[in-house]
Parts: sequence; C-alpha cells; structure tokens
Amino acid sequence: MASICVCARWRPATSKEDGEPLCISRSDSQSFTLEDDKDEKYMFSFDKVFYEDSEQADVYEFLARPIVRDALKAINGTIITYGQTGAGKTYTMEGANILETDSNKKGLLPRVVDELFEAIKLCGETSAYKIKLSMVEIYMERVRDLFDLSKDNIQIKEHKGHGILLCGVTEILISDGEEALKFLSSGIANRAVGETQMNMASSRSHCIYIFTVQKEVANEKSVGTGKLVLVDLAGSEKVEKTGAEGRVLEEAKTINKSLSALGNVINALTSSQQGKANHIPFRDSKLTRILQDALGGSSQTALLCCCSPCRGNFSESLSTLRFGARAK
Ligand code: ADP
Ligand code: MG
Repeated sequence: MASICVCARWRPATSKEDGEPLCISRSDSQSFTLEDDKDEKYMFSFDKVFYEDSEQADVYEFLARPIVRDALKAINGTIITYGQTGAGKTYTMEGANILETDSNKKGLLPRVVDELFEAIKLCGETSAYKIKLSMVEIYMERVRDLFDLSKDNIQIKEHKGHGILLCGVTEILISDGEEALKFLSSGIANRAVGETQMNMASSRSHCIYIFTVQKEVANEKSVGTGKLVLVDLAGSEKVEKTGAEGRVLEEAKTINKSLSALGNVINALTSSQQGKANHIPFRDSKLTRILQDALGGSSQTALLCCCSPCRGNFSESLSTLRFGARAK
C-alpha cells in the first residue's frame, strides 16, 4: 500500500435524536475530542475530520478524487466506509439515494462515475478507456453477485498478472455515466431482494463496488488497468453478549472476524511500509482476500470512520475511532 488516508466523519443528529446529549467537541479540521458522560476525554487526530456541516462534495474532493485520478493512471485504489449501523456509511457512499440529483446529497459513487466519464471525454482520440463494473456482497463469508443473484457463492482466485479474480462474476461494460447509475441502482435493488429472501438486514453484509478502468493507447501494446474498489462495510457494532443467540450471534462473530482481519491487514501494510518486513494476512477473510490487490502494492487507500454524534453511541464511536487511529 503506497499510503493510507484516514478520516473521520460525524453525521448530524437526526430529527429523532433532537435534544439528545452529544459526545463530540470540535477542535480543528484534523482533530476533536470525544467525551463520555463521566467527563472522560479522548483526543483524536486524523488526516481530515468532516463535521456535521460537511458537504458530500468535500468528502469526495479530499478522500476519493485523488484515488479516482490514480485509477485512470492504472493505479489501484480502495475507499472504505467503517462504523456502526446508522453512522452514515451508506449515505456517504451512495448519497441520500443513488439516483440523487441534489448535489448536496449526492454520494461518492455517482461522483466517481462523473469523474471517470468526464476524464474519458477529455482524453481525446489518442487513447480509449473501457470501464467495467461488478457489485458483490459478502454475507456470512459467502460472496454473492449483485448483478446475478443466482451466483451466490463466487470463488476468489489469484491469477499471476491479473491479480485477484472473482470467478464468474458479472462484469458490466459501461459506456456512460447514466448507464453506470442505472446498473448501480439495479445492484442496490437486487441487494434488497436477496436480503428479503434470506431475512437479513443490509447492515450485516459488506457491499463491494468494483470499477475496472482499462486504458488502451492507439498503436501501443501497453494496456494499463486500474482497479477502483469502494467498500460499504457491515456495521461494526458489538452485539449484546447475553441477548444475542443463534444466527444473530453467528452474524456478529463473522462480521467481527472480517473487520479484525481488515484491521490486521491494514496494520501489517502500514508497518511494512515503515520498513518492517512482515506477513500480510490477506487470507484471513473473504473481505481482505478480495481487497488484496487493491490494498497492497502501490495502491492508494482511504478509510472513512463514520460516527454518530450522540452520547448514547459513545462506546461505538470510540471503538470506530480507535480502529481508524490504529490504521495510521
Ligand atoms: P449506515 O449505512 O452507516 O448504517 P446510513 O448512511 O444509512 O448509515 O445513515 C443513517 C441515517 O442518517 C440515514 O437516514 C441517513 O440519511 C442519515 N445521514 C447519515 N449521514 C448523514 C449526513 N452526513 N447528512 C445528513 N444525513 C445523514
Ligand atoms: Mg448502510
């Protein structure tokens, strides 16, 4: 991993939370203090902090744009949203709605699409880009194709020269932004259908969007491919050890294991960058396995820690921010 950019985002309190005590006190654009109800204070610093009044466009500019630009130059990249259910991961990724046209509410995905096709328009006739899109979901360590729900157990293989492959996954060749949004929207709708069939909440699965950006230069054999992966992670909340049983407990354990695996991989990558040679445990979960070639090597990674501002969510916010702090 060439570098990791770690940011935090506080969503505004919702109308239901109106009047609830808050746990965050703003310092500056990179740091803030988290306070519990015993007046214990925890200071955190990140590459950037987005407060409740931050705009979707600000998040895109800082966190995503450099990675999208790199993908056009055949450098792989990953953008990850982390946090408890309700913290704002999906709002950041998709926007209030994936087809949202209000620029204040438009999420990262439609902005990624805009930038990719804008760049293609500008590059003229000397070169051409091919953009492919896949969408998968990981639930209970099984990978499902969100463009074809009959493919509900996609295998992951490593191919010399081609990196990580999702065997048989649907790859849609997209030719413009409007078409891309249509397919993203159908993948999101399919996700909901699958969840109803399995009686599962979307917050219990990881959703992965994969853009393959292939550049072809006229009269040149060299073809560069950049893989751009966006990950809307499953909710990081701990389930009550006493209350949960059966499937809920199994789900929680599986999510916890894959999120720890992600943390371990990121930590191993950042410490190997600091000169310590070590083993990177990509194989410890499906999530890290899929992300292997978009996290390792020369890839750029951005991690956004999403938090609720309410004091009632203090301990989940603390654990989310600790995950982010450890990733640096
Ligand atoms: P998650 O995906 O982490 O479970 P959501 O993205 O669904 O959480 O957000 C929970 C609720 O908060 C949604 O109703 C969403 O519209 C709202 N929300 C989240 N972030 C913001 C934000 N930055 N500005 C306005 N509303 C937000
Ligand atoms: Mg969500």
